[in-house]
Amino acid sequence: KSFEELGLDSRLIRALTKKGIEKPTLIQQSAVPYILEGKDIVARAKTGSGKTLAYLLPLLQKLFSADSGSKKKLAPSAFILVPSRELCQQVYSEVSSLIELCRVQLKAVQLTSSMTASDMRNALAGLPEILVSTPACIPKCFAAGVLEPTAVSESLEILVLDEADLLLSYGYEDNLRSVTSIIPRRCQCLLMSATTSSDVEKLKKLILHNPIVLTL
Ligand code: AMP
Repeated sequence: KSFEELGLDSRLIRALTKKGIEKPTLIQQSAVPYILEGKDIVARAKTGSGKTLAYLLPLLQKLFSADSGSKKKLAPSAFILVPSRELCQQVYSEVSSLIELCRVQLKAVQLTSSMTASDMRNALAGLPEILVSTPACIPKCFAAGVLEPTAVSESLEILVLDEADLLLSYGYEDNLRSVTSIIPRRCQCLLMSATTSSDVEKLKKLILHNPIVLTL
């Protein structure tokens, strides 16, 4: 299948072409239509499989339509939580470059635990739609009053947990809990993991609703 056949917006397809990406990988072929439909998913996908674009492309497309004409929300519409600073940087640069190539009015920021409360405040001041972060930053933002839990509850549409197995093994469970405890029922949750441990099963039960399970 082509990216068009997966139901992706022509702006995204043009952006991919500029990046030299012509054909969807297996995980992209299977995940994109479900995510566009609004389903929760658990995808067993390793680095190198194209897992990042598998969630970023439909995530952006959903925000394109939410974006048209509506006023800025007080908290981001999408959280992408990742286990390391390196992955945070990688996902952030991927999403930023897609936004730029698509020429849409969306803003992404990254937060990492090396940032001070004032750095975080500055990052969030521009009311970004997309937040890429390690999980520890979220409770830190709540504690510093930089992000209001009630605003997050009202605004959040999509939550991505990337490398979910590592999120747990790196000890982010309590941090994740402070996010999952406030996510609204309507929020779509996407869980990407290289392995399916019992921890991942636990997380899946905690946040997903009738998820589509993709194993490739
Ligand atoms: P990931 O599995 O998300 O870590 O992606 C690994 C690499 O594959 C990244 O550098 C992507 O830019 C690249 N990539 C993702 N999707 C495709 C695709 N459909 N065709 C060619 N390269 C891709």
